[in-house]
Amino acid sequence: MILLKGDLVNGQKLSADICIIGGGPAAISMALNFSATKYKVILITGGDWTQTRTNRDLYKGIIKPAGSHEPLEDSRRRQFGGGSAVWAGRCVPFDAIDFRQRSWVPASGWPVTYDEMLPYLKKAGEVCQIGNFDFDPQTVFPHKQLEIIPGLNAPDAVTSRLERYSPPVHFAKTYKAELENSSNIQVLLDAHALYLRMQNGNSRITNLEIAAGQIRADVSANCFVLATGGIENARLLLASPNKYFPAGLGNQHDNVGRYYMTHITGTYAKLNPYNRDKVMFDFEKDQDGIFCRRRWWIPEAAQENSKILNTIFYLTYAKSLTENRNRVFSAIYNATKFVVSAMGVREALRKAVQKSDQPPALLKEIYQLGLPSLLPSRNSKYWGLFFQAEQAPNRESRITLSGTQKDALGMPRVEVNIAFIDTDTESLVAAHNLFVQKYRESRAGEIIYTEEGFRHYLKNKLANFNSYAHHMGTTRMSDDPKTGVVDKNAKVYDIDNLFIAGSSTFTTSSHANPTITVVAQAIKLADHLKELLASKSESNPHFCSMVK
Ligand SMILES: Cc1cc2nc3c(=O)[nH]c(=O)nc-3n(C[C@H](O)[C@H](O)[C@H](O)COP(=O)(O)OP(=O)(O)OC[C@H]3O[C@@H](n4cnc5c(N)ncnc54)[C@H](O)[C@@H]3O)c2cc1C
Repeated sequence: MILLKGDLVNGQKLSADICIIGGGPAAISMALNFSATKYKVILITGGDWTQTRTNRDLYKGIIKPAGSHEPLEDSRRRQFGGGSAVWAGRCVPFDAIDFRQRSWVPASGWPVTYDEMLPYLKKAGEVCQIGNFDFDPQTVFPHKQLEIIPGLNAPDAVTSRLERYSPPVHFAKTYKAELENSSNIQVLLDAHALYLRMQNGNSRITNLEIAAGQIRADVSANCFVLATGGIENARLLLASPNKYFPAGLGNQHDNVGRYYMTHITGTYAKLNPYNRDKVMFDFEKDQDGIFCRRRWWIPEAAQENSKILNTIFYLTYAKSLTENRNRVFSAIYNATKFVVSAMGVREALRKAVQKSDQPPALLKEIYQLGLPSLLPSRNSKYWGLFFQAEQAPNRESRITLSGTQKDALGMPRVEVNIAFIDTDTESLVAAHNLFVQKYRESRAGEIIYTEEGFRHYLKNKLANFNSYAHHMGTTRMSDDPKTGVVDKNAKVYDIDNLFIAGSSTFTTSSHANPTITVVAQAIKLADHLKELLASKSESNPHFCSMVK
């Protein structure tokens, strides 16, 4: 059932077995897992079907130092569906190495293994509608050339992997009917969580204060799941201090908001492969019609040998390309490039096609074919070598609350202070040097790259950072409460009934776009909660006190 904010009355008291806070992929995936169960679920979406100006404003924050991170309201969506309303749909699961403790990556090592996550990643693939859970070009396209550029692959340097594209699934719209028809799930549209309260001692959250326009209401539940995105999850914990947790919920070891990570992305090196016809460059459709694209990945042994964080590359525009294209195309390319953080490639394309009386045939075709994004022409003099890399966990990279600025609901605004360590720079330089060396050895073509130039480029890039909407780590998972906020089951340390879903729980960040792993973690958490609820009073008398 979907309730509008007008359906609530001031002072109303709602209750549920599970209260899920959030309306994005994490929250919706969790809720769907409780559909048709005996448990009553309330979903507090924090936004409407579209993002209103008022709700967008709730996401504004303070960047310290100014300009060191993109504005927070640009790379997030405060609406039902969350980021999935605008995402590009690029799906790549985290790799086995991401979950391991790595000597060259500080604070690495998840308390869950890849093998434990794999079944949930596969389920997440179904939810994201990406077809077969197969990212190996050899098995997906057995009759095609394996390598992106022939002669370049080497197990000690680079190999080819696939990324798959979701249609892209808008989680709220795609799963609207299921949520609407569910008898045990109540969705509260445009209702916003304010504070989590403990009224009976220090081990359980008893109720959540919510706002829906001018209305203030209250939700009590057996358990609460925070699923408001990589930044807001930390914000809500920090904004709910009490006498037991004076620095914020789960913040007894000063970890909430710390270890904020994103992906480091950019394009510096330029390639001019000689044999363009032999380059596997375009989008390809698999047997089920799912768009796939190839990316170079630095395999595990090479990462270990060269002390590299998990990193990938693929071919994209080189800067010089856009300068020489026709005016309309350049304008559209720039629009998609810079507006992407605000509305997503597909939406930018749709708007560009609608606005132009005679859209260039190529553009129209791209939109009509539903291609995930624009690619440069095969005949371009240079292609850019796009990189996307893991950011090393760093305690000093953090989200805090402003002591002075509040949003319209009275919640302290977020301050972001993203910080990098030498490992980030040295890893990216090592990854590029490895790639460039192999490319030169393969005699595949010309490449424009100098280490000195790249270091200069990176310095500037990291000082004027764009997270591209991948926000991770602020309530990290760890086996040790001294170095984490949640345990391996995503339960907040020292609080029996508060759980967290989403990328804020990620211990490390991988190169992989986060959403499929976000969905996997949410489904895993849903399964865990079902087990807890089923085992109810005997082993967890406190946890399940309200379940009938
Ligand atoms: C332009 C763009 C392109 C992207 N492309 C990709 C891609 O290709 N591949 C990929 O993997 N990822 C991509 N992402 C990232 C992806 O959108 C996120 O990883 C994903 O949406 C995270 O899901 P989530 O549910 O954890 O958080 P979100 O999607 O951020 O959802 C958070 C939800 O919480 C709600 N909320 C916030 N505060 C409150 C509150 N106080 N009370 C109640 N509710 C609240 C919000 O309204 C929202 O519904 C992209 C993001 C953007 C913006």
